[in-house]
Amino acid sequence: MSYGTRKPHFVLVPLFAQGHMIPMIDLARLLALRGMVVSVVTTPRNTARFKAMIDRANAAGLLIRFAELRFPCAEVGLSEGCENVDLLPSEELARNFFAGLNMLREPLLVYLRQQCSKPSCIISDACCPWTSEVARELRVPRLVFHGPSCFFLLCTHNVSKHKSGGHLADAFEPFLVPGFPHKLEVVRAQSLKFFDYPGWEKLRDEAAEAEASADGLVINSFRELEAAYIDSYQKALEKKVWAVGPVCLSNNETGDEVARGNNTNVDENQIRNWLDAKETGSVIYVSFGSIASHSSSHLIEIGLGLEASKRPFIWVIKEKEMSPEVASWLSEGFEERTSWRGLILKGWAPQMLILSHPSVGGFMTHCGWNSTLEAVSVGVPMITWPHFADQFLNEKLVVEVLRIGVALKINMSIPRITGDSEGLITREEVEKAVSELLDGGEERRKRAKELGEKAKKAMEGGQSCEDLTLMIRHALELAEEGRLPVHRSSS
Ligand code: UDP
Repeated sequence: MSYGTRKPHFVLVPLFAQGHMIPMIDLARLLALRGMVVSVVTTPRNTARFKAMIDRANAAGLLIRFAELRFPCAEVGLSEGCENVDLLPSEELARNFFAGLNMLREPLLVYLRQQCSKPSCIISDACCPWTSEVARELRVPRLVFHGPSCFFLLCTHNVSKHKSGGHLADAFEPFLVPGFPHKLEVVRAQSLKFFDYPGWEKLRDEAAEAEASADGLVINSFRELEAAYIDSYQKALEKKVWAVGPVCLSNNETGDEVARGNNTNVDENQIRNWLDAKETGSVIYVSFGSIASHSSSHLIEIGLGLEASKRPFIWVIKEKEMSPEVASWLSEGFEERTSWRGLILKGWAPQMLILSHPSVGGFMTHCGWNSTLEAVSVGVPMITWPHFADQFLNEKLVVEVLRIGVALKINMSIPRITGDSEGLITREEVEKAVSELLDGGEERRKRAKELGEKAKKAMEGGQSCEDLTLMIRHALELAEEGRLPVHRSSS
């Protein structure tokens, strides 16, 4: 395959975390479908996860390649192969991980200088501010890709700008978000920007600076869902914001729904057959993304709640959650008691394949933005259990604003990633939320379906396609304007 030197060349720099890499790969496909050459920056361990998807895209004639760099694990005190957030053995190592990412600046520069075609544009994750120097050195335009919802971006921007809630001694005391398109009550602990935590100030400020100096912002959302927040964010930052999603809807070729984001050891046909045998809208799908994990006691409460609900379910349990206690609890009765209506998937599940099946009537989710948007895209209402970062505000959007979800528990306040917390939820709450979502809520289901239709329209020639066109045009005009002198290039 020839990558040529004439076609525009976009370089995408994701944060190496599943919730950031998956939409970036989707974006790569969308750009390649528009005739761009796309390089996605990865590392060996991350390449392995996405290789099947890229191979399939290449076989379909799309010009996407990996720009593979070595992740400096040893240099930052990580063990070999810790190249993705979900591979870190503990939260405490996140700092080392970001230090390693920062060290990719020089290798990426060297790599891009060696290529026969100069990049037309760099699109980098908002969590990778180090890319601004790469773009500056190469004198190419740079766009920032934001993983979270625009609802979250605008809310945290306004809270941070006005230092709202700062006067309150209690981080869980509600206050109104200033300058928001509608009345919105939040608490400080749940409305912090990424990296706005003690000890992370440098990265927080660098990310803000990289956003302020970017040539535009790309978000994984669509105007019909978030128009008011997109317009306000655009105004607040005095920057173009293009909403080009939901990018997960670029994945409708066979294969990509299954091997999306990781290699899965589950049998897709078994899942399809299992779902085919269930009634339309009867199944609850339970999964909490790639990072959040639960204590054994929480897992057991979830399981007992699902059992008590008497509804068919697919429940994803991560390998790291599979403690000896959980494994024996599952095998000593639970699996047998629920075998006729429960499917437990251990490891990485083909989420889009499951969610888009007509038998699925609800999704119990941690409200990661990708999972949220995936449910929206296929018109599935949600039970929400946020854990950390943007997830609390995504829950607000789903439950209070869009009204397509039921909160598992009101005021689930404490941000937490790993499974050491106890007693946050009970089996009764799980059972109640499942019944409420699947039995009642005709209007909720209708609203979810309508949003799903709007999402599809946006991606099938609608506003998101238009935004992608405008984004590409803007980037290429900047690249050609000549205000960006050409660097040493063999093209
Ligand atoms: N995902 C998946 N299978 C799994 C777990 C997650 O395909 O078993 C995908 C999911 O569809 C979504 C992404 O991983 O695209 C998770 O991103 P999200 O923003 O929802 O949550 P995060 O993992 O960042 O917390």
